[in-house]
Amino acid sequence: MKPHHFITAIVATVFTAGTILFAAEHAALVSPDDALAKLQAGNKRFATSKITEGKPVAARRAETAQSQHPFAIIVGCADSRTPPELVFDQNVGDLFVVRTAGNLVGEHALGSIEYAVEHLGTRLIVVLGHERCGAVKAALATATAPGHVNSLVRDIQPAVKAAKGKAGDPLDLTIQENATQVAARIRSEAKLGKLAKNVRVVVGVYDLDTGKVEWPKE
Ligand SMILES: [Zn+2]
Repeated sequence: MKPHHFITAIVATVFTAGTILFAAEHAALVSPDDALAKLQAGNKRFATSKITEGKPVAARRAETAQSQHPFAIIVGCADSRTPPELVFDQNVGDLFVVRTAGNLVGEHALGSIEYAVEHLGTRLIVVLGHERCGAVKAALATATAPGHVNSLVRDIQPAVKAAKGKAGDPLDLTIQENATQVAARIRSEAKLGKLAKNVRVVVGVYDLDTGKVEWPKE
């Protein structure tokens, strides 16, 4: 190897190691509590803004093109009115988002969560239910449905049963119960190994009218 090639190789190695080290430190800096505070502050900006704030997307795209270190995992509903990046006023590379109707988790979702915790260093998981959720509404109306929609109404039935008889609006109660049960499922079924003790799973419920996320006590 020619001397200048050797030096180039060393510089490249040091730079790569430095980048990895910085990335690991960067991810470790965002604790679950700090991540939740960032989401709460972002949601406050969203709920009080009349227009979406301009964001430096090109710079963030460049920063995150080679690696990602999202500070929160959002398990949200596929509902078009609940986009986590907007609801929490975040940018490219900030959130690792898994969305299904009814914010349910099956094998693919759990695998995605495990990947983000283990490989991307994310330490906060938010299960985000929302007001007037169509999937929950359907599950309240029927325990079976055609096609694969059946899997949605079927998997929300435990929440329907748990909410039954409680004081309050049946749909609102079932939405919160469903999000709580999904959070419990993530805690018990996601294989996070030694990292589990560093990960926090919380429930949020998004209000379609006000734009605010409420954080009910589980
Ligand atoms: Zn929904």
